Amino acid sequence: MAERLEHFIGGQHRSPSNGAWFPSTNPATLETLYEAARGDRADVRSAVDAAYQTFHSPEWSRTTPSQRGRLLRRLGDVIGEHAEELARLESLDNGKLYREMKGQLATLPEYLYYYGGLADKVQGAQIPTNSPEVLNFTQREPLGVVGAITPWNSPLTLTVSKLAPALAAGNTLVIKPSEYTSRTILRLGELADEAGFPAGVVNVVTGFGAEAGDALVNDPRLAKISFTGSTRTGSAIASSAAARFIGCTLELGGKSPNIVFEDADVSNAAMGVIAGIFAAGGQTCIAGSRVLAHRSIYDELVERVTERASSIVIGDPMDDATELGPLAFEDQLAKVSSYVDIGKEEGATVRYGGRAPEVDLPGYFFSPTVLTEANNDMRICREEIFGPVAAIMPFDTEDEALRLANDTEYGLAAGVWTSNLQRAMRMSQRLDAGTVWLNTYRAMSPMSPREGFKQSGVGVEHGLESMNEYTRLKSIWINT
Ligand code: NAD
Repeated sequence: MAERLEHFIGGQHRSPSNGAWFPSTNPATLETLYEAARGDRADVRSAVDAAYQTFHSPEWSRTTPSQRGRLLRRLGDVIGEHAEELARLESLDNGKLYREMKGQLATLPEYLYYYGGLADKVQGAQIPTNSPEVLNFTQREPLGVVGAITPWNSPLTLTVSKLAPALAAGNTLVIKPSEYTSRTILRLGELADEAGFPAGVVNVVTGFGAEAGDALVNDPRLAKISFTGSTRTGSAIASSAAARFIGCTLELGGKSPNIVFEDADVSNAAMGVIAGIFAAGGQTCIAGSRVLAHRSIYDELVERVTERASSIVIGDPMDDATELGPLAFEDQLAKVSSYVDIGKEEGATVRYGGRAPEVDLPGYFFSPTVLTEANNDMRICREEIFGPVAAIMPFDTEDEALRLANDTEYGLAAGVWTSNLQRAMRMSQRLDAGTVWLNTYRAMSPMSPREGFKQSGVGVEHGLESMNEYTRLKSIWINT
């Protein structure tokens, strides 16, 4: 029988109250890795109980900012000590390259160190008044119990991006990880305990979105929801939050343009285009899935991207030689492959890929795919595919490139490749996207705030600004 992973609530492992479990599958080998507790309303209630009581307990509410900073830095160290283990577990769960995961784990402690360093810098201001006898000042306070709901494509990094500022500010957390990747988030709960956080500060309830996720979003004691996932789920969550007037931070989907001008170093740009769409199998919110190429270099770019795509080593994500692992689960494979069919019906040309490659493993593998003769009216250019599928289209002028780039419901990120600095600056000002990369793609850091524009999100993750997402502002008046 597969190993069973229980919820982590109030510093303890807890069996599901309904006795139900669900399997997690290795997407490369199709082996069952473990079974996780299938959380329901009762389990979520227990987790929120623990988080709520802990938030109001002297043990947590009286921790000083400096103490919280030290705890977070200690958690960073503990994560660093378990980096290899966490990288391996996450790679087994979602098929991400072990090599890439080791890279992610090498930087993950930085998130804890950064917000650990901010814990004692959350400050208000003294506000001018019109009377010398009256003092008015503001202070920032924690919100209470924060519900964090996260996806499967980068579970640890995306969860720590919420956990670190939320705990630095003094909140407590109930985390509901994706049903496809429960394991490393349960480990994160255990490691927070090992680092010395009081029991009940970090709670993890595993299970499905429609069950545990929905119960968490609708628990009346929740003070805030921090969600990363699809725009569709984000919209449902925002409606529930709005009805109760609680805040939400939403990091949602994207359909990001990666624009290559005629004056770019095309060889460099081709590498950026490839990394933008094929890294992590295109299963990233920031995937540069719409490639806009100036007509004069269109053929050259298509050639270079196709050539590189055809040499990508596909296989076992645990093998350091592998460059592309499997998609994360069966429905992902069906979805990605159906979009290639849609593209063909819409008139795009499959220049490379578009099928299951020959791999020595039974998993959910899909070739890197290059679709050309695409245009912005096609569904493959409007909807998030979330797989290794690049749709390449030509443009003639800078204005046209800008119009095409901004003609999308999303506004997460955009890339621009050009050697003309003035053009780079013009584009960065006019692109309707929360992150713009000039002659690079996918750069990211806990220090750099990011916000999804339009249907890509609400609120800021990372950077100083993220602290405001987890605090409320109080104005205090004293009549001396
Ligand atoms: P998803 O929306 O299906 O699920 C995300 C999480 O929400 C999971 O934990 C799921 O169980 C839960 N959930 C689903 N329905 C729910 C409901 N009704 N109530 C409460 N919780 C519910 O997304 P996914 O497939 O796991 O992730 C992929 C999506 O995430 C893509 O759209 C991608 O662009 C987006 N994403 C965005 C960012 C970002 O920073 N903007 C980062 C990574 C991924």
